[in-house]
Order: sequence, then C-alpha cells, then structure tokens
Amino acid sequence: MSIAAPAAGRLDPFDLLEIDALLSEEERLVRDTVRGFVRNRVLPGIEEWFERGVFPRELVAEIAQLGLLGMHLKGYGCAGASAVSYGLACQELEAGDSGFRSFVSVQGSLSMFPIWKFGSEDQKREWLPPMARGELIGCFGLTEPDFGSDPGGMRTSARRRGTDWVLNGNKLWITNGSIADLAIVWARAEDGIRGFIVPTGSHGFTARDVHRKISLRASVTSELVLEDVVVPASALLPGAQGLKAPLSCLNEARYGIVWGAMGAARACYEAALEYARTRVQFGRPIAAFQLTQRKLVEMVVEIEKGMLLALHLGRLKDQERLRPEQVSVGKLNNVRAALEIAREARSILGANGITLEYPVIRHMNNLESVYTYEGTNEVHTLAIGEAITGISAFR
Ligand SMILES: Cc1cc2nc3c(=O)[nH]c(=O)nc-3n(C[C@H](O)[C@H](O)[C@H](O)COP(=O)(O)OP(=O)(O)OC[C@H]3O[C@@H](n4cnc5c(N)ncnc54)[C@H](O)[C@@H]3O)c2cc1C
Repeated sequence: MSIAAPAAGRLDPFDLLEIDALLSEEERLVRDTVRGFVRNRVLPGIEEWFERGVFPRELVAEIAQLGLLGMHLKGYGCAGASAVSYGLACQELEAGDSGFRSFVSVQGSLSMFPIWKFGSEDQKREWLPPMARGELIGCFGLTEPDFGSDPGGMRTSARRRGTDWVLNGNKLWITNGSIADLAIVWARAEDGIRGFIVPTGSHGFTARDVHRKISLRASVTSELVLEDVVVPASALLPGAQGLKAPLSCLNEARYGIVWGAMGAARACYEAALEYARTRVQFGRPIAAFQLTQRKLVEMVVEIEKGMLLALHLGRLKDQERLRPEQVSVGKLNNVRAALEIAREARSILGANGITLEYPVIRHMNNLESVYTYEGTNEVHTLAIGEAITGISAFR
C-alpha cells in the first residue's frame, strides 16, 4: 500500500472526513501495526497465493504474535482488545486480502468465541491459549449442502451413546476446514441444536477441499464429513443451546466484516486513484475526465460513510449495546458498497483491471463470497425488515 501524505493545504484523499481524529492513539497504533504487517508480509505474496489457490499457513505464527487471534476476547491468552481495535485490524487485513480477514474471523470469532462464550472452564483452559498462539487452528461447521441461509433445518445429528456422543452428517463451505485441528460442529440432538468441539483427527472425520473457486482463493474452503465420529461428553459446549448459539457467533464474525469490507474497498479506490492520475488517454490523465472523477468521488464518499458506520457500530459494541440487527445494517451496507466500489475501480483500470497485476479484480471476486457468507445480502435485508416492521418475511 502506498498511501501518500497529502500535499500541504489539501484534503487527504484517504481520510476526507478526518475520521482518523476520531480514533485513540492506541487504536491508530493497532491499525498501523496491522497495516505494516499486510504491506510487508501479505502484499508481496498475495498474487501468487491467490493464483495458486493456497493459504500461506506459515504466516499464522506471525498473525498470532500480533495478537490478532481471539483479539477481542478477554483472558486465556487473548489480547482483550476493544471492538474498535479488532475492527481496525479486520479492515487492514482485508485491505490485503479477504482470505486473511476470513482466517482471523473464523479463528477468533467462530472457533474461539463459542468456546469462550459457551464452553466450560476446562474447555477454555485447554483450547483457547494454544489457539491464541496459532498452534491450533479451528473451523466452524454450520452450513450443510441443503441448508445455507436456513441452518435450522440441519441434518447433522448428535446421538448419545453411554456418556459419549456420536456425530453424523456433512458440512459444506467450511473455511479453514482441511487445515483445522479442531472443528466447532453444530448438530441436532434430542434437545435441539448443540455445539461440539471435535478434534479433526477423530476417527470418521474427513475434510475435503472445495476446488475451482474463483473467489477467496487464498483461503481454504472445505467439506466436512462426519461418519460415526465419537466424542466424549466433555466435547459438548455446555452453554450452547439452540440455534441462537451459532447465530451469536456469526454476529461476532460479521461485525469484523463491516470493517473488513471497507478495507477491501479502500484498496480498490487507492489502486483506481493512482491509475487514473497516471494513465493518459486523449492527451490527458484519465483522472481529468469528469466521468472518472465522478466514479472516484462516489467511491470515496461511500468509503467514508462506511467507515463512519463501522466506527459507530464499534463504539456501540464497546459499550455492550450493539444489537444483531444493527450489525445487519453494517454488513448489508458495507459489503454492497465495497462490491460496487470494486466494480467501478475495475472499470477505471480498463483492460489492466482484469489481471492480477492489480489488486482490484481479486478484491472484487473475494467480495462476492463476502456478500454471501455470514448471512446473505437478502437475509440481512429481511432481518432489518423484521426489526422495523415487526413482521418476519423469512418464510
Ligand atoms: C467462501 C465461503 C466460505 C464460507 N465459510 C463458511 C464457514 O466457515 N462455516 C459455515 O458454516 N459456512 C460457511 N459458508 C457458507 C455460507 O454461510 C453460506 O453460503 C450462506 O449462508 C448462504 O447459503 P447458501 O450458499 O446455501 O445459499 P442459499 O441459502 O441457498 O441462498 C441462495 C440465494 O437465495 C436467497 N435466499 C435464501 N433464503 C431466502 C429468503 N427467505 N428470502 C429471500 N432470499 C432468500 C439467498 O439470499 C441467496 O441469494 C461459506 C461460504 C463461502 C462462499
């Protein structure tokens, strides 16, 4: 990233509304540290990882050293950072690539959070410290081949056998699936939906990667198959009862997306602005044409609005006042805006915009997944619709 300081007297094109001034010194430090990590360790390799379709597992230890795994959780070796700091970290990671933000979201918000929130004291002590150190990787198995937006229909079952549990079923589209050491598996038991910590080395557990993705290529996505997987009673998350438990984890993760999407959008805007200033057609830089300026202005206005929205939701979260429907507003707006920004940026880059030499089409393709996972655009629309009308339109 080459965000240059503005010329004297000019507004900063990357901080038009001076949102920077709304952050504390500590928050800026977190942001700048993660930005530096992305510049030095992610950007030099990302084109190749994306092209080869691999997640660079070797960077996990460094991500952990920065305190980014379970960053917003308190105790058990976690950094205990504020929600705003966590959001800023997500923003910077996703300015690198959505795959990195996805890794951190799944580890911290979807794998560590359920243990932290619903686990027993023994489970927290056993799993959270090595996960915060990046020694153990987690994944979150909720979606099934036939149940995506409607996870309440899940078929994966949990049956008691003596004091053990026997798990059977299939989970699909599971981030980190084949590189995970443990899976948080949601299954239907006699008393409703329950969550289990399942070591991926368990007999009967297999993870197969989804291939031929053209989105989130620098992220592992897998299918999990559980065939008579036996886990002890101590694998059950005692505090997780019913669908609201996994949904509360998703709410944590999509809070990070509200910020992350704006990171991807900023990277696209930056690439487009730089390109428009230097690409000459008809004897002038294309930034001199009114139509190009309009595109750039729409981008920066949406980014500034999206960042203010993320910051507002972050402050509410730090005051423990943030409601799921408010997170839906942020996810719906910011991912939609980011996707539009990526598409406009792509058009400014012309033919160059379709190559991996520039980050734009990579972000654009990644954002298609971000638009769908953690609640689709439509599902968040209906969640907000229900909040304002009092009527559920899901069925
Ligand atoms: C890269 C990637 C990573 C993922 N990682 C994970 C993970 O780690 N763990 C996990 O459990 N899942 C994961 N998912 C799955 C993701 O959460 C689901 O894809 C998502 O919930 C949507 O489900 P679906 O794809 O089955 O689409 P469907 O639910 O089949 O939806 C298809 C379309 O129908 C629309 N639709 C559905 N119901 C309604 C309705 N009532 N009203 C209006 N429109 C509706 C949807 O909005 C969408 O446009 C991941 C997905 C991707 C792409």
